[in-house]
Formats: sequence, structure tokens, C-alpha cells
Amino acid sequence: MANKEFPLIFERSRDGRTSYNLPALDVPETDLNAELGDTFVRKAPAELPEVSELEVMRHYTGLSNRNYGVDSGFYPLGSCTMKYNPKINEDVARMPGFSHVHPYQEPNQVQGAMEMLYDLQASLREITGMYDVSLQSAAGAQGEWTALLMIRAFHHANGDQKRDKVIVPDSAHGTNPASATLAGFDVISVKTNENGLVDIEDLKSVVGDDTAVLMLTNPNTLGLFETEILEIAEIVHGAGGKLYYDGANLNAIMGYARPGDMGFDAVHLNLHKTFTGPHGGGGPGSGPVGVSEELAPFLPKPVLMKKDEEYVFEYDRPQSIGRIKPYYGNFGINLRAYTYIRTMGPVGLKKVSEYAVLNANYMKAKLQDHYDLPYTQHCKHEFVLSGRSQKKLGVRTMDIAKRLLDFGFHPPTVYFPLNVEEAIMIEPTETESKETLDEFIDTMIQIADEAKNNPEIVQEAPHTTVLKRLDETTAARKPVLRYIKK
Ligand SMILES: *Cc1c(COP(=O)(O)O)cnc(C)c1O
Repeated sequence: MANKEFPLIFERSRDGRTSYNLPALDVPETDLNAELGDTFVRKAPAELPEVSELEVMRHYTGLSNRNYGVDSGFYPLGSCTMKYNPKINEDVARMPGFSHVHPYQEPNQVQGAMEMLYDLQASLREITGMYDVSLQSAAGAQGEWTALLMIRAFHHANGDQKRDKVIVPDSAHGTNPASATLAGFDVISVKTNENGLVDIEDLKSVVGDDTAVLMLTNPNTLGLFETEILEIAEIVHGAGGKLYYDGANLNAIMGYARPGDMGFDAVHLNLHKTFTGPHGGGGPGSGPVGVSEELAPFLPKPVLMKKDEEYVFEYDRPQSIGRIKPYYGNFGINLRAYTYIRTMGPVGLKKVSEYAVLNANYMKAKLQDHYDLPYTQHCKHEFVLSGRSQKKLGVRTMDIAKRLLDFGFHPPTVYFPLNVEEAIMIEPTETESKETLDEFIDTMIQIADEAKNNPEIVQEAPHTTVLKRLDETTAARKPVLRYIKK
């Protein structure tokens, strides 16, 4: 059905149609078989679509019109910080001095680009309160994994080989246990108490001399600030473990609280969330890692340093965990984050936190009479509702999410965190106007009313989109990523 309405570029293809006009070959043709050997030379021509330039334009413009992004509407996807990405970031990323540099250029030719990275590291050190920062990792999850390798290297360097457990709260982002598993640790879950915070008694019972690290998000995934953080740090450090801060979402605390001051030994940031790198659709991202002085010798190499007046990449780091990404990180995303930080300044970043928290609390206050609110205290940049009452009427959280599409909104995060039944996790961000927040609130209230009075309209949503309900499980488990000509 979708194909009939909107053919694939391959289906638009007609033999011999082209979008280019190249001059005739004026050098001798190479005999590829002689140069490369039979095995490497393609037998049949590559099956590429043959289309005119106009058809290419219409095809991709048509696709982009079907897309939904922050530039087209409200996108309150909790734990994702879909804030507006200022266009000045794009201007700067396109400056030839940045966009034309090559990672294999000699450092003496790219001192300006290195200075930008160095200054970004310095800003992130200040924002997080950490001793040193590496910009290498390309995503939050990779930052987590990088820091876990460093923490293990630290324990091993201290002759502490037996610390093979990573403690993770049951509300944690899925990447935390996943990174820990990939890094070769066993994952131990710690419970959330009735206030939505780490259960201190449960924590005490799982911490021990096999604890490598506790991974924590603060504010946590319920949008709540872990007020006992200093005690938590004491418990974990007391047992010889380290503390890891999942700083993917720093939107609530920038300029107000710093992981370094809370006692954390390592942290990652998502520059593609808090620091306005465009995201969604899988990248590119940037997940820098900040560490304490103790962990600094283990940072990925090369380490960007300033020596005398020169910026250098230092490779002589005997305790380094090595390189975790080719080149020096996702330069373009780091540059956009640098531009954002410089545009906002320290006062601006503080204001970001203030508005992000204000907007979330405003929406929470307006919606809490219409949906269940499992944790009632003030939230930080996001909050979690439950569709428990609607479920009793036969309307699931998934239906509510689909119904929002009819009103032109991207749905919030649903069914996450896992410890809230029928979870609806809303993160408005600081960049939205009060009018937009009010429109979304009114729509959510209307859907709650529909669930009571006209449940079918919600259960059968969406009614207005090009495609209706998709089989998301099959799409995730058996993705069809290649065009195969029938
Ligand atoms: C987004 C997010 C991550 C993962 O970041 P990626 O860049 O998608 O790998 C980790 N933790 C939290 C809390 C997040 O919100």
C-alpha cells in the first residue's frame, strides 16, 4: 500500500535515465581485471536507480515532507531532549575552515580546529566539575562503555581484579545495563523506593567488595533529583566502588549542580541532546566522557593537550584503554555543541535549566488531574505519568500515543521507565513557548476525555496519518534494509 502511494526510488527507475552529464573519457581506459584480479571486479553492473535529477528532487523532497522533526512540531520525547537545534550551529559547521579539514592533516595545519576542541573540553570540564574530558565517543552508550572500560582498568591497576559487578537502578535507561554487559560486567539491579528514588537500604545490601561501579542518572529517569546522592556516593566509595553519572540529560541541572561535586568519578554527556546536536534517526552523535583525576590516566588516546602555545595529540599514554573511535570524535557535532555553549554563555545555560524545569512542572501540574501521577514531588526536566486509569477503560498508553499523531504532535516516550505501569514520559524542553505547551496539554486532556466517552476513537487512532499502525516488532526484529528486485 505504502509503495503504491509513494514508490521507492528503485521503482521510479527507467533504463538509461540519468541525472548527470559527464564529458567523454579522455584518458586510456583501465583494464580492471588486470589491475585488481578477477575476484574483486563486479560481474554485472550495480543495480542503481536510473532517474532524472527532477525525479531525485521530488522523491527526497516528498520523503522529507512526510518526516516529523523538531523543526515541524512539538516533540516531547522523554529522556531524549528534542529541543530546538539553533541554525547558527549549522552556519558555523559549514565554515570552510571547519568543514574542509581532514582528520589526516598534520596538527600544525589544523591548530584552529584543535583549539575549538580543546576549548569545548574546557567548557565541559567546567559544566560537569570533572578533571578531564575526552571527546572521542560518538554516542551516550559508547560513552558509558568507554567509562566502564576505564573504571575496570583502574581497578585492575590497583590489583583489584574481582570487581565484576555493575549496579544499576531498576529505572535506568536501557543502555546502562547493555553497556555494562558489553563491557563484560554482571549487572545487579537496585530498587526504587516509594518516592521514586534509589532505595538506600537495598543499595547497601547489594554493594560489596565485588562492586565495580554504580551507574546513576541524576535527575533520574523518573525526572526526580536523587536527594540522597551524597550518602549514595559515600556507600559506594566506602566499599571501594566507583560512581558513574549518566549525563545524557543535563538539561535540568546545568549551571546549578555538577556531577563532580556530587562525588561522581566519571560521567558522559550527550552533546546531541542537551547541547543541541541534531539527533533522531541514529546519529551522528557525541558522547564525551568526563573523569576524575584518578581515572584520567586511562582516558582513550590520543589525548588532546596544550603544550606551550601548541595543541597536540598525545599518544604516549601507557595506561590508556586505547582508541575507541577512529579519528578524534564526531567533529561536526562537537563543533555544534561548542557553538551552542558559546552562544548561550554561562548565564544562558543556567536559564536553560530553569525553563526546562519550569516547563516540565507546568505541564505536570496541568495534567495530573487527568492522568495518574505515580510520583508527585516537583520534577526536574521531565515527568512520568501513568495510563493506568485509562487502561481500565480499555485504552492503552500506546493508543494515547497514536491518538496524539492525529493532532500533529510527536508522542512522548511510552512504556519507559519500566518500573511505571503504562508509562508516559514527557519532556517539554526549554525551547517551547507557553502556547505550544498549552496546546499539547489541551490535547492530552481531550484524549483523556475521549478515553472515557468515546474510547474507540482512541483505540483506532491514528486516523489522519499516511500510514496507520505499523508492526513495530517485526520492523525491529526483521528489518528489510535492502532493495531486492523481484
Ligand atoms: C539517550 C540516553 C542514553 C543513550 O544515549 P545514546 O546517544 O542514544 O547512546 C543513555 N542514558 C540516558 C538517560 C539517555 O537519555
